[in-house]
Amino acid sequence: MKKKIAILGATGSVGKSTLDLVERSPDRFEVTSVTAATNAEALAEIARRTYAKVAVIADESRARELQELLVGTSCKVEAGEDALRSAATDEADLVIAAIVGCAGLKPVMAAVEAGKTVALANKEALVTAGALMIEAASAANATLLPIDSEHNAIFQCLAGNRNEDVSRIILTASGGPFRTASTELIAAATPAQAVAHPNWSMGAKISVDSATLMNKGLELIEAHYLFGLPSTQIDILIHPQSVIHSMVEFVDGSVLAQLGSPDMRIPIAYALAWPERLETPAQRLDLAAIRRLDFEAPDHDRFPALRLAREALEEGGSAPIVLNAANEVAVASFLGGAIRFPEIVKIVGESLQESDFSAPRSIGDVVEIDRATRGRVESFMKASCH
Ligand code: NAD
Ligand code: MG
Repeated sequence: MKKKIAILGATGSVGKSTLDLVERSPDRFEVTSVTAATNAEALAEIARRTYAKVAVIADESRARELQELLVGTSCKVEAGEDALRSAATDEADLVIAAIVGCAGLKPVMAAVEAGKTVALANKEALVTAGALMIEAASAANATLLPIDSEHNAIFQCLAGNRNEDVSRIILTASGGPFRTASTELIAAATPAQAVAHPNWSMGAKISVDSATLMNKGLELIEAHYLFGLPSTQIDILIHPQSVIHSMVEFVDGSVLAQLGSPDMRIPIAYALAWPERLETPAQRLDLAAIRRLDFEAPDHDRFPALRLAREALEEGGSAPIVLNAANEVAVASFLGGAIRFPEIVKIVGESLQESDFSAPRSIGDVVEIDRATRGRVESFMKASCH
């Protein structure tokens, strides 16, 4: 029996890596639904190639275009938010959650509530609704398989161990493109420089997050919810080669690590085949050629995003939602040329300062806090531009 896969965010970087693996093993996988935000052409091409049963475009104004591009196929075309949720709860055995940002929250939550196995790349969904999502997963007997390379590494290291035997987890971080840059150089960073990650090729938003280190901050919160550990048991270690993808230290002093070349197809393959393994074309690790692995402590002065994210995690309630929403708006503004690089984290810090943090009781609350924060940040940025 083939495993049925729904791919949310099929046109993105994680979506494409997933498709690459799925298409290499047609005997093991079949694609049910594929989704995208606005790019009808790319989505139609994927739907044709994979013989997907349903293609969903989030932007309803592109539905007609998608329909025309898929004439002559048996692929059903749908559009809008409800359709995204249906794609997440279709007949698939495994839902790949690869939408970027809080936009992915409702479909991911729908998949979790339907008791699906969810391969989660969309960290913002867990950052904003972690407690609710973990609770829903346990109520519906859903399984969350992390695709984010660090969390996937930890998941692999935890296999066969008891959670109570963990003393801490160590999230590794490459340090991003500005790891060795001075504060002055970082202040002048352009979008092109910020998205040029030294080790990984990824979508624009996560690439900017990797440059500010907000990505590691979001991953800290993601790890807290996925593995049920407090902030004090989650450390961050800079490791420029991105060979060790993260580590787990146990009470006896043993440390387990997962290593591999920096290729997202390795963690995606793990989630696709779990609990089995899947062959990938990823480059094999040649440690003799790499020769050395380096480590350093993160510099919180040049990269204040890490501290903000840890504070948001420790504050709890809606603080991670505010952190994430302000960051999404600020990153989009930076990519659009409206603000300078250091302003991204400054805006996030200011948003956190002026918020109260009552905890969301429902996904509706999360969406509302996200919306309100975006509105505040946008009007604040408009005001400071005039
Ligand atoms: P990307 O920008 O390349 O792709 C994003 C996908 O989401 C696209 O298919 C896009 O059409 C869709 N999308 C965007 N906005 C949407 C909206 N409003 N409604 C519906 N669909 C929408 O991003 P990516 O790099 O593939 O990252 C996807 C997620 O995976 C992010 O949460 C990111 O943090 C996480 N992640 C990515 C990588 C990586 O290597 N790229 C690694 C770890 C984690
Ligand atoms: Mg990661």
